[in-house]
Amino acid sequence: MLTNRRSFLKSAGLLAAAAAVLDPASLFAQKEGKKSGSKVMKLSFMPYDAQMRHVFTISNSSRTSTPIVLTEITYDGVTGYGEAAMPPYLGETQASVIEFLKKVDLSRFSSPFLIEDIMAYVDGITTNNTAAKAAVDIALHDLVGKLIGQPWWKIWGFDPSTCPNTSYTVGLDTEEVVKEKTREASPYKVIKVKLGRDEATDKMMINTIRSVTDTVICVDANQGWKDKHYALDMINWLNERNVNMIEQPMPKLLLDETAWVTERSPLPVIADEACQRLSDIQKLKGAYSGINIKLMKCTGLREAREMVSLAQALNMKLMIGCMTETSCAISAAAQLAPKMEWADLDGNLLIANDCFKGMQIVDGKITLEDLPGIGVEKRK
Ligand code: MG
Repeated sequence: MLTNRRSFLKSAGLLAAAAAVLDPASLFAQKEGKKSGSKVMKLSFMPYDAQMRHVFTISNSSRTSTPIVLTEITYDGVTGYGEAAMPPYLGETQASVIEFLKKVDLSRFSSPFLIEDIMAYVDGITTNNTAAKAAVDIALHDLVGKLIGQPWWKIWGFDPSTCPNTSYTVGLDTEEVVKEKTREASPYKVIKVKLGRDEATDKMMINTIRSVTDTVICVDANQGWKDKHYALDMINWLNERNVNMIEQPMPKLLLDETAWVTERSPLPVIADEACQRLSDIQKLKGAYSGINIKLMKCTGLREAREMVSLAQALNMKLMIGCMTETSCAISAAAQLAPKMEWADLDGNLLIANDCFKGMQIVDGKITLEDLPGIGVEKRK
């Protein structure tokens, strides 16, 4: 029907004029044979509990599930999916996310293509609530990508062949469990280890993993090392054991001490807790070698894309990370993977009840498909 209409318009010399009138949303709906729906954006949301496959332990907490809120934005018969994931230490809850989302009125915008205006409005509703804002941003990007019919990595002009391997996290645990988890990690090319308790435990973790495999290790100390000399000693010890980077070795407020460590460190030092949003990056230049971008910290893809540009302009290295998330938010983050030196996108692999199918890891590497939006579909 579209072809007939096109050839008729072309023969009538009206195609250019018609293209100016037709918006891409209605074109997509016709191509897909879908009925056009309402031209008012509708945001809906529901709480979801992600069950962990293993008890998950970092330097200061343990948990068996992670609260999530799933979002959908529907426009013209097309639905975009989004998600907020709330590990307890970040201060957001399902209740706070739902309370925030109730305040979001997308009907004031005429089109989902106004991502800049929409996200500036969403960001301005409150000061914090970054995961709740990301849940809107991800659904909006998924929707717009679907309306255009293209994935975001392609809209941004990224080369999917440059995606890095993802790391697979092995949490703090007993020697036997660490060995078991290390064997489980064998399909992955990089193991991420959570350190930051005491010297004996940290060295036990690395020695135990090294008794099973030589696979390269990324270390995340989650602010656990309080003294700069101790942090540097640990980094030098790790450097001799095929470790390739250190994430957040010291508390985020100890910027001068971290700069002292980074200056002397043989390994790149990456900011995670110290780098939440775009506005944090400038002050981290010099103190850290690079930043770990996470959608739940930075309000989503719109700001994450800007963080990539700013970090590149400041000659800082880039990493993409995640919380415990379903394949929805993981696949959204993966759209940025071609620009990353390191990726830690294993949050979906750590949960037992992933309700989305999305980005796949092949031979340890992130792969991006030619699927519109963030490239996900709901599992039946
Ligand atoms: Mg981290």
